[in-house]
Amino acid sequence: RIKILATGICRTDDHVIKGLMVSRFPVIVGHEATGLVESIGEGVTTVKPGDKVIPLFMPQCRECNACRNPDGNLCIKSDITGRGVLDDGTTRFSCKGKPVYHFMNTSTFTEYTVVDEFAVAKINDAAPPEKVCLIGCGFSTGYGAAIKTGKVTPGSTCAVFGLGGVGLSVIMGCKSAGASRIIGIDLNKDKFEKAKAVGATDCISPKDSAKPISEVLSEMTGNTVGYSFEVIGRLDTMIDALASCHMNYGTSVVVGAPPSAKMLTYDPMLLFTGRTWKGCIFGGWKSRDDVP
Ligand code: NAD
Ligand code: ZN
Repeated sequence: RIKILATGICRTDDHVIKGLMVSRFPVIVGHEATGLVESIGEGVTTVKPGDKVIPLFMPQCRECNACRNPDGNLCIKSDITGRGVLDDGTTRFSCKGKPVYHFMNTSTFTEYTVVDEFAVAKINDAAPPEKVCLIGCGFSTGYGAAIKTGKVTPGSTCAVFGLGGVGLSVIMGCKSAGASRIIGIDLNKDKFEKAKAVGATDCISPKDSAKPISEVLSEMTGNTVGYSFEVIGRLDTMIDALASCHMNYGTSVVVGAPPSAKMLTYDPMLLFTGRTWKGCIFGGWKSRDDVP
C-alpha cells in the first residue's frame, strides 16, 4: 500500500477517459507518481514501509520471456488489455460497496493505492517527489525511445512529432545521444519555446505549409532525417513520421499510443526501400532494474 506524494498527468490517462484506450470502468487512472510505502503484504521482500517508491505501469516480474530477454521489457504482468485488477484477480478500491478498477497496475490519482510487488521500484530517499514522478512514465518513455529504441547516433538529424511531456523527453534523449539537429513538430506553437529550451534546434508547425510535412523536413535538412518519432498517438502522424525519415537508412519510432481497435493503411514502398519502423512502451526500459 503506497501513499501517493506526487503524480503527473500523461495523455494516456486522457485516452482512457475518452475511450481511445481499453480499460474496465469505473477506474482510477494516473500512472506516473512518487509515493511512500505505507504497509506491505505477506512475502514482500524488496520494499518496506517508509521506502520512497515509483509505481510501475510497466512491471518487471523477472520470470517471463520478455523479462528474461536482454532486449525485452514488455513484462507479461503488464495490464495493456485493461483487466483492471491486481495479479490475484482482486481490486482494492471500492465506492459505495461497488468495485472500482485499477489502471495499468498503478492508479495514482488517489491518496493511497495498492500495487503488486513486481510493479514498484524503490528510489533514493532524497529524490524530489514532484520531479521524479515523471520517471514513472513520460520522461523514461521519451528518453528511452531515443536512446534505447531509436538508438540515435551522434551527429544525426532527428524529427520529433508532438511536443508534450513525452516528446520533450524524446528531444532530451536525442540531444544526449549527440544528435546535431533536432526538429520539433507541433500544431501548437506555444510548445516551441520549451522544446528549444530542452534541445530542439528548429520547430515547425504542419499548418505553415501546404506540402506534406515529410517534404518540408526533407527540404529543410537536405534529406538527412535519420530518426523520426511519433509522440502524439494519431494514425496519420504515424505515417507522416515514417515517411519523414530517410527512405533507406531511416528509423521511425511509434511512441504515441495507437487508438484501440483502429487499423492503419500505408504504402509498403515506405518500408521496401529500407526504412525501419518500430515502437516501444516505457522507452524499452526494464522498470525495476532501470527506474532506481
Ligand atoms: P500531450 O498531449 O502532452 O502532447 C501531444 C502533443 O501533440 C501536443 O503538444 C499537441 O499539440 C500535439 N499534436 C496533436 N495533434 C497533432 C498533429 N496532428 N500534428 C502535430 N502535433 C500534434 O501528450 P503526452 O503526454 O506527451 O503523450 C504523447 C503520446 O504518447 C500519447 O499518445 C500518449 O498516450 C503516449 N504515451 C505512450 C507511452 C508509451 O509507453 N509508448 C507512454 C506515455 C505516453
Ligand atoms: Zn504515461
